[in-house]
Amino acid sequence: MHRIASAALLSLTLPAIVSAQTPRAKNFNGAEALALTGRAVAFGPRPDGSPAIEKLRAFIRAQLAQRGCEISGDAFTAATPDGPLPMENIIARFPGKSGRAIAITGHYDTKKLENFVGANDGGSSTGFLLELAAVLQNQPRTDDIYLVFFDGEEALHNWSDTDSVYGSRHLAEKWNADGTNKRLKALINVDMIGDKNLKMVWDTSSSSALRNLVWDAADSLGYKQYFPREGGAIEDDHMPFLNRGVQALDIIDFESQNTFWHNAQDTMDKLGAHSFEVVGNVLVKSIKELEQQN
Ligand SMILES: [Zn+2]
Repeated sequence: MHRIASAALLSLTLPAIVSAQTPRAKNFNGAEALALTGRAVAFGPRPDGSPAIEKLRAFIRAQLAQRGCEISGDAFTAATPDGPLPMENIIARFPGKSGRAIAITGHYDTKKLENFVGANDGGSSTGFLLELAAVLQNQPRTDDIYLVFFDGEEALHNWSDTDSVYGSRHLAEKWNADGTNKRLKALINVDMIGDKNLKMVWDTSSSSALRNLVWDAADSLGYKQYFPREGGAIEDDHMPFLNRGVQALDIIDFESQNTFWHNAQDTMDKLGAHSFEVVGNVLVKSIKELEQQN
């Protein structure tokens, strides 16, 4: 990130014939998401151009390979203030049958700072998406579900339109060209969602209907205190898609006293399994509701 400018409800309605053939969906497990985050963070600082980010890419791919999805890479060379840098978004697809699609996204790179491991900022989104993949595994889908691990969210130097969100800018352009953006019902980005004292920003940049759907889902699950309806305008990986007309939302806790944003204190001890589980349950419910929309 970023800049500020101003128990999964399992559907019990599956027909018996489906439930007989399909393993019951597992609940989103916050402890597993936290543990996966810890494994990503254990690679150390993971800025673009580092050996650690290469190891993390291999880890993400190896984990996804166990989760029954199609895996693809979106590799490109980013023009940065420090010169060209190789980057790669990693995309998991759980195929549906409607022709429509939903994307859940988050970044895996970390800001290049002294002793900065980005447990929450870069780590939590990575662990969260890997656990979400385990929930989606082997389940019948209406829409294609894409899980996108964005590279290059962080600015190399100072956040600007040309020095930030490299991966999401690249994929938004690619998906615009190949027609995927037109198939997207929604893109929901998660960032800094694992800190113990969770308080999401009501991001006024995001699409209002989608924001209401997700915040209403949180209310219905008893999570009102974590999803207050107050905030400001956030710039994050959802912006390149918003700018191309995709209904998009950012879910982020941007309270610096909770998140230790861009601070060497952003370490694993600040994170809590319950926070991951709150966000996981909200997104599993939101995905189901989006799939029921035409
Ligand atoms: Zn950041």
